[in-house]
Amino acid sequence: MIEVKEWRHERERMVKEQIVARGVEDERVLDAMMQVPRHLFVDKVYVHQAYNDYPLSVGHGQTISQPYMVAAMTELLDLKPDDMVLEIGTGSGYQAAILALLCKMVYTVERVSALKEIARERLEKLGFSNVAFLIGDGTLGWPQYAPYDGIIVTAGAPEVPNALIEQLAEKGRLVIPVGSEYFQTLNLVTKQRGRIFRKEFFECTFVPLVGKQGWKE
Ligand code: SAH
Repeated sequence: MIEVKEWRHERERMVKEQIVARGVEDERVLDAMMQVPRHLFVDKVYVHQAYNDYPLSVGHGQTISQPYMVAAMTELLDLKPDDMVLEIGTGSGYQAAILALLCKMVYTVERVSALKEIARERLEKLGFSNVAFLIGDGTLGWPQYAPYDGIIVTAGAPEVPNALIEQLAEKGRLVIPVGSEYFQTLNLVTKQRGRIFRKEFFECTFVPLVGKQGWKE
């Protein structure tokens, strides 16, 4: 990624006061949050709020997640440099950029084509070459490149889509908010010797995951 020095001080504060203060410890995750210029992933009118402690609108009724949420979900994925990762819900492309710094390849699926196009341009400008984009229903995953070592869903699901469990590699980790349309609990699903384990973490609020194995349109 091309280094961006602007807003560095704000990024440092964001990492310290919002992310480290709430218990995220993984140095690689903290470093990625420090590097990715979040202000370049929001609309011009929000630039001055880009490093604040809340999600922001990215248009089309969608949001860029709160910085802490991005960091906490990424830490749960426990990524290794050689990992292949699937993201459902490209949105602004910010989470994809964080992932791309921590693994080998990111496959990201978005249902709103206008969002995907903006995200793709942003990541290209920043010099990322390890992110692949797909327009479609992410509740069906992206079978072509499966299995994935990590899968992250950045929209709230009524239940864990079967397709995603199927596309998870042995020892893989799937992070997904599950619950109602307005409140969810962050779930970590793991696969060990073909068996599925599920652990619940904190409460969160995401925009709905809309699709065949998600909410109806
Ligand atoms: N990760 C994003 C935040 C995404 S918000 C970021 O860093 O900015 C959730 C996104 O999920 C929205 O863009 C929404 O359009 C998308 N989405 C919802 N249902 C989807 C589905 N079934 N497949 C793919 N994308 C979906």
